[in-house]
Amino acid sequence: MKSPLELYDVTIIGGGPAGMYTAFYSGMRDLKTKLIEAKEELGGRMLIYPEKMIWDVGGVTPILCRKLIDQLAEQARTFDPTIILGQQIIAQERQEDGTYLLTSATGEQHWTRTIILTIGYGILQMAKLEIEGADRYEVTNLHYTVQELEPFRGKRVLISGGGDSAVDWANELESIAASVTIVHRRDQFGGHEKNIARMKASSVDVRVLHTVSQLHSTNGEEIDKVTVSHVESGASEQLEVDAVIVNHGLKSDFGPLREWGLDMGEWCANVSGRLETNLPGVFAAGDFVDYTSKVRLIAGTFTDAVLALNSAKLYIDPEAPKVAYVSSHNDRFKEKNKALGVSDEH
Ligand SMILES: Cc1cc2nc3c(=O)[nH]c(=O)nc-3n(C[C@H](O)[C@H](O)[C@H](O)COP(=O)(O)OP(=O)(O)OC[C@H]3O[C@@H](n4cnc5c(N)ncnc54)[C@H](O)[C@@H]3O)c2cc1C
Repeated sequence: MKSPLELYDVTIIGGGPAGMYTAFYSGMRDLKTKLIEAKEELGGRMLIYPEKMIWDVGGVTPILCRKLIDQLAEQARTFDPTIILGQQIIAQERQEDGTYLLTSATGEQHWTRTIILTIGYGILQMAKLEIEGADRYEVTNLHYTVQELEPFRGKRVLISGGGDSAVDWANELESIAASVTIVHRRDQFGGHEKNIARMKASSVDVRVLHTVSQLHSTNGEEIDKVTVSHVESGASEQLEVDAVIVNHGLKSDFGPLREWGLDMGEWCANVSGRLETNLPGVFAAGDFVDYTSKVRLIAGTFTDAVLALNSAKLYIDPEAPKVAYVSSHNDRFKEKNKALGVSDEH
């Protein structure tokens, strides 16, 4: 027999930086909190660039993205929220008493007073290389993301793509790999001018107006040659490689969430200044929202999280203070400070 559902004050959908910080802040405001993430890992889009050095989060000196994810996840767990991984939420049903019943793609249900949507641009998937049979090399040397640089040491690496990440990876691998070739179907690269200039001035072999047209393998398991072709003339050349990295962008999908009746533009939910959506008890934060002056950066997700959570708190308890207080004003921190051996005089 199924155990009865437990009612949560706040259910956060999406475990990127917005969701993780909301989980922390929700605990600070004494709310019974659940965080549900579709992937098997927390991190959201930060998982695309774990090896990138992050410079632009206030108060955090340059930090590897992987480490920042770990720190955000640790902070999210401060007040022991329930964290559920590997469940994509697809449906919501408002009950007569105003609570919501959520259902995942695999049929699990969750019961909550409020919902905070921190779903970014939905479920992300890497756009795949459109060459028949390419998927068989995904277990060997065809990569769609660079999780670690070390496996590429001393290798002849070919990168296909011209976006932000392709340029970042070319620059990061240049000093580690035996050689780096970047193949891009356009003649302009995306991303920071500074990074593009650095790549062009380095030993990276830059081939614009070219695409990868064939993959070759002598042993049937690993790619050892790649045919690259000019997009206009069709002239082609074979290059010897040890690893191929493809960065053809991301595809994202909101799936059935599009049918929830949210007031949405093409990609984002329109929200009030207090991060309320048009649905009662449903708030949103992070890259999923749109409002004047929205900042689409990790740092921007933190303010959104605070605003959305404070709105959820007031929705549940209209008499509650408008914001949370830290340290000596907040009993939850008194104990935590004591455990850290810190006085809470301030
Ligand atoms: C290549 C690249 C480099 C970047 N570099 C920087 C940088 O240097 N500094 C910076 O500040 N920002 C950077 N950004 C931007 C930053 O990553 C985003 O602003 C940030 O990740 C947005 O966080 P979020 O939590 O709103 O959404 P996301 O990080 O997109 O997380 C959303 C999460 O929700 C989950 N989800 C979606 N739908 C559901 C569902 N139905 N059920 C359950 N879970 C769901 C997704 O799986 C995902 O994990 C970069 C972005 C990219 C792509």
